[in-house]
Amino acid sequence: MSEVRTLKVALLGCGNVGAQVARILLDDADALAARTGAHLQLSGIAVRNLDSERDVELPRELFTTDADTLAKDADLVIELMGGIEPARSLILTAMQNGACVVTGNKALLAQDGPTLYEEADKAGVQLSYEAAVAGAIPILRPIRDSLSGDRITRVLGIVNGTTNFILDQMDSTGAQFADALAEAQRLGYAEADPTADVEGHDAAAKAAILASLSFHTRFALEDVYCEGITKVSAADIAAAKEAGFVIKLLAIAEKITNANGEGGISVRVHPTLLPREHPLAAVRGAFNAVFIEAENAGELMFYGQGAGGTPTASAVLGDLVSAARRVVLGGPGRTETTTGFVPALPIDASTTSYYIGLDVADQAGVLARITHIFAEHGVSIEIMRQTIHRDAPSKVESAELKIVTHRASEAALAATVEAVKGLDVINSVTSVLRVEGV
Ligand code: NAP
Repeated sequence: MSEVRTLKVALLGCGNVGAQVARILLDDADALAARTGAHLQLSGIAVRNLDSERDVELPRELFTTDADTLAKDADLVIELMGGIEPARSLILTAMQNGACVVTGNKALLAQDGPTLYEEADKAGVQLSYEAAVAGAIPILRPIRDSLSGDRITRVLGIVNGTTNFILDQMDSTGAQFADALAEAQRLGYAEADPTADVEGHDAAAKAAILASLSFHTRFALEDVYCEGITKVSAADIAAAKEAGFVIKLLAIAEKITNANGEGGISVRVHPTLLPREHPLAAVRGAFNAVFIEAENAGELMFYGQGAGGTPTASAVLGDLVSAARRVVLGGPGRTETTTGFVPALPIDASTTSYYIGLDVADQAGVLARITHIFAEHGVSIEIMRQTIHRDAPSKVESAELKIVTHRASEAALAATVEAVKGLDVINSVTSVLRVEGV
């Protein structure tokens, strides 16, 4: 019988995710050996502070503060330290030394992914990062492998659990953003400094990764238009609800082709109205989901826990098993395919439907003047509803107008809203929100 080989696994970081990865590696060693054809030997765990308390009891002799030596002497390296440095240098060194690397570091991939992918190609090793997008949900390998014989046309993702929890709270309780954020912080869904989540930066990093794999082109963070949820008000949520919509923070990557057959990829993150019957509208609390449209497969949805130590560790282990199999069987590593250059389009080139809320004077001819402006700018109206407020505090009768447009360009919509604002019958523009799924 041939001898089963041993692969040394270096774990860099033993926090929320790393501790769970170490536990699974030690507890499930036999099952992992059976699945990979190699013993995955945890050779060491690099941390900052040897005396920190850990979520899992682990052999003390495994711990070291010398991440560099550990990473240089391993067949497989798992980076779960987070941040840019020293994670970036350690990953590069490990790959240059012939190790396959698994990471969950979306911030690093969004900032410097291309350098890392090129180094992996050069070294012939695999760089895997399933945990970097939507935690436990297997989404990157299905895009890269299962859908590699298809053409993806659109990806819509709820990829940030914190913002989904906040918007869901606002939707179900009528709370204002600040109160829903405070509740998310109290329950541990939001960090003390929630900026990266609520401003959309975390979702934008994931959007860049999803777009790159889906459209076989490297998109960087600066290619992603990003708008967070801090300006979404309880009034926006209530108006959306009344009109049959729910507001979600979506990461969107879609192919846009103009009449001349030219186009590119629009990659963006912004609050979006979705019809309540859309599959993504049912994603509640801190859960994540990614909805994919492909030419042949049609619509697909992937749903699950987008964060948490144990769920995320599942994605890390999946990558580790895949990388170990590749080492056992031989053959070059693969991180992604870049088959062509498709330009990233600026936000002005993207098209979507819009929801517009207007507070208008209740006078004869108002509707005609407003619809005329929309028509002048080539923005066609799909739904228009009017509610009259006869008991307005000012005693002057006003009306609330809710308009949903057909797909229009950002530029045309912005010009329409500016022109509408200039009408003397407009008291205020109460909401302008993008709509998908209609
Ligand atoms: P974490 O709890 O903050 O743990 C980080 C670990 O890295 C700690 O053990 C820390 O050591 C160690 N570390 C940090 N800097 C180091 C350095 N310079 N040298 C040696 N060790 C160092 O982080 P996490 O939540 O597990 O996240 C890890 C990665 O997974 C991040 O890239 C994150 O974005 C990604 N991720 C996390 C989740 C999630 O739910 N948490 C989900 C998806 C992806 P000490 O313990 O000694 O301080």
